[in-house]
Amino acid sequence: MRGSIPVPGPTTVKYGGNTSCLELRFGKEDRLIIVDLGSGVRLLADLIMKKDRPRGPITTSVFLTHTHTDHIMGFPFFTPLFIPGTHLDIYGPVTYEEDTLKNIVGDQLQYRYFPVRLDELRAEINYFSLKEGRQDLGGGLTVTTKYLNHPITVLGYKFEFEGKVVCTAYDHEMYQNVFDAKPEDPGYDKAAVAEGEIAAREENEKVREFYKNADLLVHDTQYTHKEYLAGKKGWGHSSFEWAINSAHTAGVKHLVLFHHEPLRNDQELEGYYKAYMARIRGRTRMTVSIAQEGKTIEV
Ligand SMILES: [Zn+2]
Ligand SMILES: [Zn+2]
Repeated sequence: MRGSIPVPGPTTVKYGGNTSCLELRFGKEDRLIIVDLGSGVRLLADLIMKKDRPRGPITTSVFLTHTHTDHIMGFPFFTPLFIPGTHLDIYGPVTYEEDTLKNIVGDQLQYRYFPVRLDELRAEINYFSLKEGRQDLGGGLTVTTKYLNHPITVLGYKFEFEGKVVCTAYDHEMYQNVFDAKPEDPGYDKAAVAEGEIAAREENEKVREFYKNADLLVHDTQYTHKEYLAGKKGWGHSSFEWAINSAHTAGVKHLVLFHHEPLRNDQELEGYYKAYMARIRGRTRMTVSIAQEGKTIEV
């Protein structure tokens, strides 16, 4: 699963060249929840058509972390949209109240972008704009949302079911001191710098608290710390170092490295993974894996 843009090709075959789409299944009923409609949802749609469709009409909820293109671009390719009887609830945050989720997601289906228009779809679709909070989804499943740090509003999700906790924290950049300055900088304000430091620490602590003791955490790891410092600050993504350290100190049991830098091929990704694992070996009980298209993780 790559971030930002699909990158198909021979160098991304192992971990996948599609953008964000998670399939979550809950309980004996195999209840389906989808997180994000990146280009990966096309393959998921094929699977749903084979596995779920024979059992009856598709009813599912989609939780969008945010509406950046790489997280919604697969929407028009979600085959069940074209089948009568499909019921789809789409949840997600909106940055500006006048910009509805229906407009942002649904407007991809107009002739200027796509050969089929939204009102030609056969599915029943409902849109729900989310803020921070906790919601009962019925059948023992709850979802809690937490604002993360990105250039637009992003929600982290925490799904709880039968004592198990699965969280997402992407796209997310660790909070930084917004008043960061050196004494030699013009207008340097020591008190503001100190305030900014405290504020950033507190915000980062809230995020850590959000996924505390999670059985599974899917976290943005687009950059290495070195890359982050070399011009990626403020782009809204985390480093491997930040995600690993933050998840470890939060008591996360399994961390999934996610939203891979699109320029990074499988070999490079694996190289970084091995190097980081060597550095933390014996220092944490947390297990870590690289997000891989089509891979199933049980919690
Ligand atoms: Zn993204
Ligand atoms: Zn984004």
